[in-house]
Amino acid sequence: MTTPPDWRRIQLQNFHSWEKLALFLQLQDPYKDELLQKSSFPLNLPYRLAEKIAKNTLEDPILKQFVPLKKELILNENFVLDPVQDASFRKESKLIHKYQGRALLVTSSACAMHCRYCFRKNFSYETKRKDFEEELKTLENDTSISELILSGGDPLSLSNEDLKNLLTSLIPLTHIKRVRFHTRFPIGIPERIDEEFLSILEKIPKQFFFTIHTNHPKELDADIFSALKKVARLGIPLLNQTVLLQGVNDSVPVLEELFSLLSDHGIIPYYLHHLDPVTGTTHFATSEDQGKDLMRQLSKKLSGYSLPKYVKEVPGQSSKTPIWY
Ligand code: SF4
Repeated sequence: MTTPPDWRRIQLQNFHSWEKLALFLQLQDPYKDELLQKSSFPLNLPYRLAEKIAKNTLEDPILKQFVPLKKELILNENFVLDPVQDASFRKESKLIHKYQGRALLVTSSACAMHCRYCFRKNFSYETKRKDFEEELKTLENDTSISELILSGGDPLSLSNEDLKNLLTSLIPLTHIKRVRFHTRFPIGIPERIDEEFLSILEKIPKQFFFTIHTNHPKELDADIFSALKKVARLGIPLLNQTVLLQGVNDSVPVLEELFSLLSDHGIIPYYLHHLDPVTGTTHFATSEDQGKDLMRQLSKKLSGYSLPKYVKEVPGQSSKTPIWY
């Protein structure tokens, strides 16, 4: 039997039980009573992130992002199951083709953590078929695609062997010049960036981009930056996406600290996303005017490259819709 890699063993420490997490966070009533005990999108929280949460309070930016709360039960007709209408843009079961020249491959349904505001939490993933045969055939025949986005779930949920097989299959598709990882994995389990993974990236003759997703400076630490630096050393640009979330990062000091910290470590904050109105996320919503006001204030404080574009996803549009840039 082969020994699982370190990151898989670390992943086994993720919190999945609200009782264990409540004990770990020393949550007392009335806070404990606010936890949502059952959800179709269950609790999944890496130990590293749980350790950063303040004890016995719900007023913590990490807790708010990852811990199911009863607020998710609030219904609103403007908040729906598939707000970005990914289902209608799927060419094959795991391939989404929305924008010209780019296709997105849903590589896995698994994530290192479950973010409560995620617009894909209701996505009906293909789980029976583990290979990408059909999708690779589509990609081979569509020479208009020059960039493949590996998303999910999280592409780093795949084993190194599966990633290697997928990336190797892309080598003969010479029209695909760029491969972009969209991952939140290193924020919860930076050990995922192991030597084997780095050596796979090094050997594949494509230009990679590495887009991480982080929303609050408290999520970040020296281990995460050190793991990402190893990726950057391979000549792979590092980018970050942030979602604007009420009560988490809807303030100038928090966003200024986040975007400066990322820039200090060579990570370009390229998008600030307006929340996709997915069912159960009304408590995270901000108005576009609030977002624009934040951007106006941030533009007076940050270098141009540290200031992301503030965008939203409008179904049917040929690109992200800018709100402020
Ligand atoms: S890691 Fe990404 S895909 Fe997974 S739940 Fe969070 S936002 Fe959604």
